[in-house]
Amino acid sequence: MTSSPRTTRCSSPSSTPPLAGGPQGADALRPLLGTVLDALRDGALARGGPLPPGGPETVTAQVRNALAEVLPETGTGAEEALRTLVTALAYGAADPAHPHCAAHLHTPPLAVAVAADLAASALNPSMDSWDQAPAASALEHLVTRELATLTHPTGPAPDALVTTGGTESNHLALLLAREHHGPTLQTVCGANAHHSIRRAAWLLGLPEPVTVPAPGGRIDLTALAAVLTDLRGPLLVVATAGTTDTGAIDPLPEIADLCDTHGAALHIDAAYGGPLLFSDTHRTLLTGLDRARTVTLDLHKLGWQPVAAGLLAVPDTRLLDALAHTAPYLNPDDDTRAGLPDLLGRSPRTSRRPDILKIAVTLRALGRTGLGHLVDRVRTTAQQLADLVEKSPHLDLYERPTLTTVLFRPTDAPGATTPPPVTPGVPHPADPPTATRSTPHTTAPTADDAAVATARRELLTQGLAVLGRAHADGRLWFKVTLLNPHTTPTDLDTLIALVEGSTTR
Ligand SMILES: *Cc1c(COP(=O)(O)O)cnc(C)c1O
Repeated sequence: MTSSPRTTRCSSPSSTPPLAGGPQGADALRPLLGTVLDALRDGALARGGPLPPGGPETVTAQVRNALAEVLPETGTGAEEALRTLVTALAYGAADPAHPHCAAHLHTPPLAVAVAADLAASALNPSMDSWDQAPAASALEHLVTRELATLTHPTGPAPDALVTTGGTESNHLALLLAREHHGPTLQTVCGANAHHSIRRAAWLLGLPEPVTVPAPGGRIDLTALAAVLTDLRGPLLVVATAGTTDTGAIDPLPEIADLCDTHGAALHIDAAYGGPLLFSDTHRTLLTGLDRARTVTLDLHKLGWQPVAAGLLAVPDTRLLDALAHTAPYLNPDDDTRAGLPDLLGRSPRTSRRPDILKIAVTLRALGRTGLGHLVDRVRTTAQQLADLVEKSPHLDLYERPTLTTVLFRPTDAPGATTPPPVTPGVPHPADPPTATRSTPHTTAPTADDAAVATARRELLTQGLAVLGRAHADGRLWFKVTLLNPHTTPTDLDTLIALVEGSTTR
């Protein structure tokens, strides 16, 4: 009896393992994919809930047991390694596809996007030179320009860089601003801005950002005007369209007006809220976005992509010139003059995954209205959860959700001192009256804050729910970030019951 050379190669761990590319690559992958898909299903079924019960020690022990040896002397073979480790990872996952896994902007990726990402891995084009990515670089060119026309429809030459996410996009936005205005550039952001703004300034050697109060989660315009009047030298204002804590959208047109008046540049971090642009119903929430010189988008949040899928959009491709860079082995001048596209100026990274493929496939598969429908769907889910919280006698709602984030906490015990309610745009007495250079203060935790923190950890370690937490108006709240378009009203009922059960014992 003879076996085919390919069968022999696949089944013997000591022979040269097959590759994923080339005409034979698909046949080599197919049986392994079956193993992977079975392991994903088995692990998820065994877990049952949104995360494994037991907490960090239990989960670490389970991974250690499954792994046994990190680098065995003799390999176990592709089938066994995939089955063992993928099953363990799927069992031990905090699975954003479970309706009760809703802590973070941690999206359940669409199957179509994950399938496209497999092709990206198999072909492995690297986006740092045309001779490693002929079609992938052309695809990136077309898709980034089209996406940038969503943020900057009237820009002279809209363009976007592909990034690893909101953090890299914000970093690049500050870098481009520094290259334009010089190293004395002063960043001004709201107390509601993402922590990556502060870190980007630090990484870039820029002055520490001046923080403007954001009572109710939105930049205070009076305070911003005062700061912009006081400061001298080049200024970059950072506004947020969809804050990480509450999903609030800063008053973009008014901020853009203030930037015009004071000659400040404007960056808008729309990592979370940007995909409202796909929605006919909710696009107007982003009015003013096109007035920013740079816009951060993150399609691994409301775009349902697996990480990474970030973008930094600009109204004019020339604003990206500062990133131009030559490495003789990648983009020699004579190659560029001869017409080979120069990719090094498209990112500060060198080797780079073709993250544009999954994005392009998703845009084509769903269309703008398909994506807009998903955005509308999760926004409706957030409104439904807010309704349930309002109906519960045991829970208080922070505010009606703008995007898909709902904050709530146990109703204060009778007689407990409650801070006065906060109206968006009106300074809260607890907020510092003027801008500060320090991180916003935190109020000493109250008994009810501790109840929120403890209940959140209990739900985690019991494997029942993954809820987030956020400080707002000086108190600690449960945060639920709804990104799963399959979540049903019944799922929300169960979630509310879980929270009530964990806080009213
Ligand atoms: C998530 C988020 C970021 C960071 O994005 P990453 O993709 O995690 O790097 C930045 N800004 C805002 C407003 C975000 O919500």
